[in-house]
Amino acid sequence: MNDCLFCKIIAGEIPSDKVYEDEQVLVFKDINPHADVHLLMVPKQHIVSLDELGPEHDDVMAYMMRTLPRIAKDHGLDDGFRTIINTGKGGGQVVFHLHIHLLGGKNLPGFG
Ligand code: AMP
Ligand code: ZN
Repeated sequence: MNDCLFCKIIAGEIPSDKVYEDEQVLVFKDINPHADVHLLMVPKQHIVSLDELGPEHDDVMAYMMRTLPRIAKDHGLDDGFRTIINTGKGGGQVVFHLHIHLLGGKNLPGFG
């Protein structure tokens, strides 16, 4: 956990391009964007991945789902947006602190 990149970003030990923060989540720009808008939403508590979720995480997960559309609209994505959660090595997860990719605008990757 101490070596977790996103925990360090949350703690302010590593700089990020923060766009939103509250008691439960932090949202910042992906350093290697795959679309015009590419943000990452992370829970402030360290959760490794969807594989590690327990009932104690229900509230924060629901909160993130409910907060995403608001963040998308704040970034001009009035027509909609795409969310991606990579889980485990087989799912392409590279940073093992649960995060939701929020993508939108031109050059949206994958799935048509
Ligand atoms: P994933 O493959 O789902 O684990 O995605 C990890 C994402 O984190 C990638 O899209 C990276 O570009 C992004 N990323 C890695 N390091 C940073 C950083 N320091 N600041 C912002 N985004 C980062
Ligand atoms: Zn972490």
